[in-house]
Amino acid sequence: MKFATKAIHAGQEPDPSTGAVMTPIYQTSTYWQKSPGDHQGYEYSRGTNPTRKALENCLAALENAQFGLAFSSGMGATDAVMKLLLPGDEVITGDDLYGGSYRMFTKIFANYGIKFHFLDLSDPEIIREHTNANTRLIWIETPTNPTMQIVDIAAVTKIGKEKGLLTVVDNTFASPYLQNPIDLGADIVMHSVTKYIGGHSDVVMGALMTNNEDLYKRLFFIYNACGATPGPMDSFLVLRGIKTLHLRMKAHCDNGRKIAEFLKTHPKVDKIYWPGFADHPNHEIAKKQMRDFGGMISITLKDADLKETFRVASSFKVFSLAESLGGVESLINHPVTMTHASIPKEAREKVGVVDNLLRLSVGVEDVDDLLDDLKQALS
Ligand SMILES: *Cc1c(COP(=O)(O)O)cnc(C)c1O
Repeated sequence: MKFATKAIHAGQEPDPSTGAVMTPIYQTSTYWQKSPGDHQGYEYSRGTNPTRKALENCLAALENAQFGLAFSSGMGATDAVMKLLLPGDEVITGDDLYGGSYRMFTKIFANYGIKFHFLDLSDPEIIREHTNANTRLIWIETPTNPTMQIVDIAAVTKIGKEKGLLTVVDNTFASPYLQNPIDLGADIVMHSVTKYIGGHSDVVMGALMTNNEDLYKRLFFIYNACGATPGPMDSFLVLRGIKTLHLRMKAHCDNGRKIAEFLKTHPKVDKIYWPGFADHPNHEIAKKQMRDFGGMISITLKDADLKETFRVASSFKVFSLAESLGGVESLINHPVTMTHASIPKEAREKVGVVDNLLRLSVGVEDVDDLLDDLKQALS
């Protein structure tokens, strides 16, 4: 099946009890058993729930995976992956990570004896130099947040396989519509479903997808044992959001391209980060592994200090100043004080997260209104 058909149908059969075409919201914590242990596959909703199960099958299909697990947040999904590890294990990851992942790695899992190497992965060969007998896992994000660097997924998974390491890709920024890491050799794909997959900024959720049955079983054990699983109402909302994922992504990409081109020559804009430009340092890799370039764009403002940057960030009328991304509505974010506030100044400045940086999540409104809003805010 092609992507659009999977987005609308995968995992969703008419409900066996009533024929309802849309998956019902099974708002129940527990399930009747005829005699102890004699049930219809559902015992307790922390472990399994029919609405969530339909969603998980759909999520798996979108990433060309056999298995999917939904979590109550993206961080809940990341936490489950890290719990595959033991004290003494080492992880290789990028130096331009989502702030919450950096915080979890350095402030939680480092205390449990897991060692993290934060590397510039623009040349994946660097992974070899930092791999030793304790290395277990590579965690990558591409495009990176907020400076839209591209990591070559196929090159990373090749090294991972050679060295016997698991490769996990946080695919939140691209969405399954633009990029499918499992097809490029990844063992696990992670999503913050909160973003493009949910698409309407009304649910917080995460997901893991894999083709490896043994990994799926271990992750399911952690999911049920630790309990960061989402409820049926949120599962329903995400199933509903996914039905337009392909349509929304096309509109995000079209609007994103027009806005990136407008900003590139704007006199108030110094640097612009968007992988669709031919002069982006990893444009060729982006072209190879992504279907299009998305609606996430970062800019630095020319000759602007923090005060001036705040003034611009606060003068939008259609874009909302808010954290998060990937919803139908356009958002503007100031990474230094908002999404990336938990990363120390030196670490973030090294990768370009500076005071005059703004990140745009281009929504699917009429692009003329978005362009007008940018013109007035930048002037
Ligand atoms: C938002 C986000 C997360 C965390 O997901 P939550 O759903 O907010 O817990 C992880 N990675 C990336 C790239 C994100 O944008």
